[in-house]
Amino acid sequence: MSQLQPVRGTHDLIGETARRHAHVVDTAREIARRYGYEEWATPIFEDTRVFSRTLGDTSDVVTKEMYTFEDRGGDSLTLRPEGTAAICRAFVTNGLTQALPQRVFYQGPMFRYERPQKGRFRQFHQIGAELLGATDPLMDAETIAMARDILVALGLGGCVTLELNTLGDVESRQAWREALIAYFRAHEAALSEESRLRLDANPLRILDSKAPQDRALLADAPQFSSYLNAASAEFWDSLRRHLERFDVAFVENPHIVRGLDYYSHTAFEFVTDRLGAQSTVLAGGRYEGLVAQMGGPSTPAIGWAGGIERLALLLENAPEKVAPVAVLPTGEPGLPAAIATVQALRHAGLAASLETRSSLKKRMERVVKSGASHMVLIGEDELSRNMVTVRDLTTRTQSEMPIDAVAGHLLKAL
Ligand code: ATP
Ligand code: MG
Repeated sequence: MSQLQPVRGTHDLIGETARRHAHVVDTAREIARRYGYEEWATPIFEDTRVFSRTLGDTSDVVTKEMYTFEDRGGDSLTLRPEGTAAICRAFVTNGLTQALPQRVFYQGPMFRYERPQKGRFRQFHQIGAELLGATDPLMDAETIAMARDILVALGLGGCVTLELNTLGDVESRQAWREALIAYFRAHEAALSEESRLRLDANPLRILDSKAPQDRALLADAPQFSSYLNAASAEFWDSLRRHLERFDVAFVENPHIVRGLDYYSHTAFEFVTDRLGAQSTVLAGGRYEGLVAQMGGPSTPAIGWAGGIERLALLLENAPEKVAPVAVLPTGEPGLPAAIATVQALRHAGLAASLETRSSLKKRMERVVKSGASHMVLIGEDELSRNMVTVRDLTTRTQSEMPIDAVAGHLLKAL
């Protein structure tokens, strides 16, 4: 029978890959705890409407990337492509909408049907945070500061840049859209044919046209920043002021718009130049309508998600495998004492293994090769005096000590 392979775009987390992954999750979880976030876990599949309602009918995720299937009962289910919509669904269905704010951390697998490449998978993993009931730009700044602290704790402070933009409120976006349409109408003859067709349906798409004649026109097109109404401009100013107070460095980038339709005001991405085309490692923004779309009251929120695979690739040093302590009875009579010793070590919090298989010589060779830090040898002679030998495999020194002193000695040494 032919050997079965993992499905295209999926990968196993094993060995160093697993250790890198766990290090990203553990670090993020610890920083999130310091910021008062609690971890939630939602199911990996949801009613399809949780995503189709919220992500917007024109987003890439909904139109091309979702894993949607009918289950045996005829319900349409979708493997979650992202975490935010599911957290909002859980927030409403668990009756938490009056308990504001909620600070939520999550981590786990996400699924998108995309073309696999370096840092881009069909099953990938995210860490993420949502602050539901974010009334004030101060909360946006604090949430971004938490993301920055996670990246710094991972040792990535030097290789990522925070890019920041404002998408304003609905009124500002509408005013800008009208100005854009008027501008392109006035220059309709100079537009590419494709862009002329887009003018009515989706004028914003002209902004990412590659046609040279369109690019020339874009240079003088109305800038969104001139169309922010007073409330949006005030929000944008205080966000930037607060970020400075949190000592978070950023650059403004008017092209950050985010792929999903639900954002307003704050939009940001932490980017790197070390991962080729997959340059965004963590991204997020403010959203206002999502909780209402799940049937809850209108609740402003701010959140972000980071790609664990991309963060793990960036880690300079893979976290090391724990070097265990090996306990070896030299012969059969030492076994009860060896079991008592290995258990005492484990209960004291050390990683310890019991080595009983094959000859003593072979076992010792195997233990040295395995990268163990110490070997505890339990021989009959010594045992009769209640003593054992502890060998440090790094310094290659050894000493005899009472059996019940071993755990204390190794705890100090490790
Ligand atoms: P991209 O532009 O790279 O497709 P996105 O805007 O679709 O990213 P988000 O939905 O904002 O990504 O997800 C947040 C983060 O999750 C991304 O910045 C990235 O680090 C990670 N991510 C997204 N899609 C994938 C994927 N297919 N494989 C691995 N990581 C991913
Ligand atoms: Mg994408």
